[in-house]
Amino acid sequence: MEFIREYADWFYLIGAVLFILTLRGLSGPKTAIQGNRYGMIAMAIAVLTTFFVADHPVIWMIVGAMVLGAVVGIARARTVPMTQMPETVALMHSLVGLAAVLIAIAAILHNNQLTALFAENEAALTAAGVEHAHMSKVHLFELFVGCFVGAITFTASVFAYGKLAAKKWAKTISGGWVKPVQVLIFLAMLACGIYFFTTGNMNAFWAMTVLALAFGWVWIAPVGGGDMPVVVSLLNSFSGWAAAGIGFTLENNMLIVAGSLVGSSGAILSYIMCKAMNRSIINVLFGGAMGGTAVAASDNGEKVQRNHRSGSADDAGFLMSNADSVVIVPGYGMAQGRAQNAVKELCEILKEQGVKVRFAIHPVAGRMPGHMNVLLAEADVAYEDILEMDEINSDFPATDVVLVIGANDVVNPAAKDDPSSPIYGMPILEAHKARTIMVIKRSMATGYAGLDNDLFYNDKTMMIFGDAKKVVEDMTKAINGGGH
Ligand code: NDP
Repeated sequence: MEFIREYADWFYLIGAVLFILTLRGLSGPKTAIQGNRYGMIAMAIAVLTTFFVADHPVIWMIVGAMVLGAVVGIARARTVPMTQMPETVALMHSLVGLAAVLIAIAAILHNNQLTALFAENEAALTAAGVEHAHMSKVHLFELFVGCFVGAITFTASVFAYGKLAAKKWAKTISGGWVKPVQVLIFLAMLACGIYFFTTGNMNAFWAMTVLALAFGWVWIAPVGGGDMPVVVSLLNSFSGWAAAGIGFTLENNMLIVAGSLVGSSGAILSYIMCKAMNRSIINVLFGGAMGGTAVAASDNGEKVQRNHRSGSADDAGFLMSNADSVVIVPGYGMAQGRAQNAVKELCEILKEQGVKVRFAIHPVAGRMPGHMNVLLAEADVAYEDILEMDEINSDFPATDVVLVIGANDVVNPAAKDDPSSPIYGMPILEAHKARTIMVIKRSMATGYAGLDNDLFYNDKTMMIFGDAKKVVEDMTKAINGGGH
């Protein structure tokens, strides 16, 4: 135990390096499991070291909380379906926010208690040469920032959880009053925080905390359901900064480093997601609800009749089994139709026929970061067959068949050719360049962005209407029955 105390900073340093290796590992599907292992070891080192360096720890409380947390965490991890991962993550961020608020409150109350004790016994203590160490301004500032960032993170994350889990109480709010109320609450919160910071007035501190809790709610409540994944990623970043704030309060270097890593990686992920959706973070957070309607501006009611070509699963199966190369572009429809296992089977049967099959993944395909990677990994698709947008885009012109399964926006050529399109500038998978294009979807309906897609009317395109899983299964049957 003494050894751990003496070398605590070294243990923290090892933990910090392992956390960095964790992030590095999580950047690719092949290394993600190893990355997770590093993360678990780092967390164990961090928790154990902190446990042994704590001054006068209340053992039963700490062990009790750890056991309770472990039981809840293990139970949730074992039972949560992959589709409920975003809301689970949101709920976990809310706890980090709450922890930051509670620690800030505890630190301030503890300091107030010491001040009162000192005042009561001032004469005796001064005679004995004991001085009361007042909380420095820097410390007060850390508490003030940690507390309001934590409070905002808490209510915003609870709302994000409710929204993603489709709870009745998490209703999207809208109206002209929303923005002024947001500004008012924010300014009032800042004013109370600054007053507390300058005078140490506790009423101002409580008011700031309550206003920050209210702000978290009123800030996130107008954001549409479809934008929630970006919000969750941003809240992930916030929870990291709140944790770093607690690290300063508790003078714990490990927490400062780990919090900063979470904070910055969450911010980078939010930026990447916004870029891939061709939107700014300000637009997501303050532009109001999108959720499939906001950018449908180009379709102003004048529906133009356009022709498309449709075919059957049998035709498609025949064409693919005679191709040299097939690239599969999965999108939200594959997730919605739970078609990943059927897709994997189709991929296997095509490979048996000597066809080169690969998957092309757009960074925002589906409705959460890594959505397609997770589904394909669940179906056991080989990692080397899964290529990112930048890796595969130059291969499309030499590809015989592109099979688009429930993807729409991520293959919309308007993003490249039509400067008037709301998604102009968004990077896309250039499926339109392939020799033959096949699209599985249930109708000619638009996707998340609410835009028509020229790809569906392309001369080289064959639409195959139906539910993704059923159509893919029929394709496999057709190839099994026919072959070369
Ligand atoms: P889209 O939402 O553009 O299109 C999905 C298509 O799938 C729809 O056109 C729909 O057509 C079809 N579909 C739905 N259910 C089924 C089914 N059961 N079987 C067959 N087809 C089905 O999805 P993309 O993946 O192409 O693009 C993702 C969009 O989501 C982008 O606009 C992105 O910006 C946005 N987004 C992504 C986030 C992320 O983190 N990944 C987060 C937030 C937003 P039909 O109804 O005719 O079947």
